[in-house]
Amino acid sequence: MNTYDMIVVGGGIAGIVAATRAAEKGLRVVVLEKGEVPDYKCNTRWSGGIVHVGYVDPKEPAANIQAGIALNTRGYTDPALAQVLVEQCGKVIDWLRVQGVRFIRSGSQSYLAWTMAPPRALVAGIDWKGRGPDVMLRTLTDRLRKLGGTLLLGAKAERLILENGRVMGLEATVAGVATRFTASAVVIADGGFQSNIHLIRQHIMPNPEAVKQRGGATGMGDGMRMAREAGAAITDLDCFYGHLLHRESMVNDKVWPYPELDGIATAAIVVNHAGQRFVNEGAGGVNMANMIARGADPLCATLVLDTPIWEGPGRSARIPANPALERAGGTIFRGSTLRELAGVAGLDPDGLEATVAAYNKACASGDFGGLTPPRTTDRFKPMPILKAPFVAIPACAGITYTMGGIRIDADARVLSEAGEAIPGLYAAGAATGGIEGGPAIGYTGGLSKAAVFGFRAAEHVAKGAKQ
Ligand SMILES: Cc1cc2nc3c(=O)[nH]c(=O)nc-3n(C[C@H](O)[C@H](O)[C@H](O)COP(=O)(O)OP(=O)(O)OC[C@H]3O[C@@H](n4cnc5c(N)ncnc54)[C@H](O)[C@@H]3O)c2cc1C
Repeated sequence: MNTYDMIVVGGGIAGIVAATRAAEKGLRVVVLEKGEVPDYKCNTRWSGGIVHVGYVDPKEPAANIQAGIALNTRGYTDPALAQVLVEQCGKVIDWLRVQGVRFIRSGSQSYLAWTMAPPRALVAGIDWKGRGPDVMLRTLTDRLRKLGGTLLLGAKAERLILENGRVMGLEATVAGVATRFTASAVVIADGGFQSNIHLIRQHIMPNPEAVKQRGGATGMGDGMRMAREAGAAITDLDCFYGHLLHRESMVNDKVWPYPELDGIATAAIVVNHAGQRFVNEGAGGVNMANMIARGADPLCATLVLDTPIWEGPGRSARIPANPALERAGGTIFRGSTLRELAGVAGLDPDGLEATVAAYNKACASGDFGGLTPPRTTDRFKPMPILKAPFVAIPACAGITYTMGGIRIDADARVLSEAGEAIPGLYAAGAATGGIEGGPAIGYTGGLSKAAVFGFRAAEHVAKGAKQ
């Protein structure tokens, strides 16, 4: 009873891929998922379903993918883990297709080549039911069951069982009852700690209540705690993957998780109530979301732009803020002068005029060196703010998942502080660290990381089981 070859903690893409692959290899597998209903919430189900590596099609030549990872992480990544992503992601996509998962190209850019089908509607707000990632999870779960595996709902993993440093199983609460599961391998795939306010406050930001949970809000860091208790090394806890959202997403479910405001912010400026810039817009939306969240007042950010930015980058995202935001009831401020805009948007008019004047001067001369804070221009082109009506969009940071966590090796084995694999313990997906984060707050793709390392974990467990 309750004896398996492999136990998986969490039924997101990392866990379901690991379990299905292991079942295909003939292992007896159970997935413990704390969600209680068949369409249980998780970030995977709510995601956009775009499988990319460093914003590059995973089937492009390795050099292109490596360049995408390097550009986004500025070289801050574990090379062995990055190499696995480069080499394996295309193959895992092929495997997913064999399982019945369908993909379409959702746009002309490289990173949109593998979007789970059907894609979400291109409108603001929450839209996951019947969309690609939801269908993918249901398809894999059906396959898992056909292969003899089990997805146990309402099962919350609590602690690992160890004997002489080796993982032997775990204890879980199933329908309120403490239950023991035995297996020689456990894969932790619980999706990170983004929804654990205490951990977030401890590691990332002083005021997490002022940051929007941009996802299923299921990641409580249980897996990281369990792994740490087993002696695992923990890494890169200080960054998250997220985006800039309209500030009203704190109270209005129609304006999140899309549209993101990143594309507008990287072309324009982000100011505080004093009308002063306080982040490097050129570092990109994920970086800005982290910087805003780390500040004392994460709800102080306002995007300031002009009509060409609103009509250009404002319309160019896959789910464009213009016109999706206003259609969903999001407030956009407009003014025929910067002073008027400042008045309606609650910004200091003198501060805003001075900030825009300095910024426009830098745009005209191409010399951004004198701006405070500095503004980089190598990734995103800044546009001057010249043409009325001027536009202000109140913004906030949205946290999707935490980038750091359990340290793993290329086979998804959990490593100890001494760098040795802990026998029987694996981790995959947003529960792990080592690929993303760092000074540039690099993002390489949440679905690719989760699917690839879930797959790797299963392969390694299966290999060991045969020996
Ligand atoms: C709105 C949105 C859009 C996104 N778009 C994209 C995109 O287009 N491309 C991309 O690459 N990434 C995207 N992402 C990120 C991506 O969804 C995640 O990185 C990825 O799904 C993580 O998968 P996971 O399996 O690690 O975690 P999750 O999908 O979060 O699954 C973890 C599961 O573990 C369960 N769990 C937690 N604790 C326990 C416990 N103690 N016991 C049992 N079960 C537990 C949870 O209930 C959950 O079901 C998006 C995310 C969101 C929210």
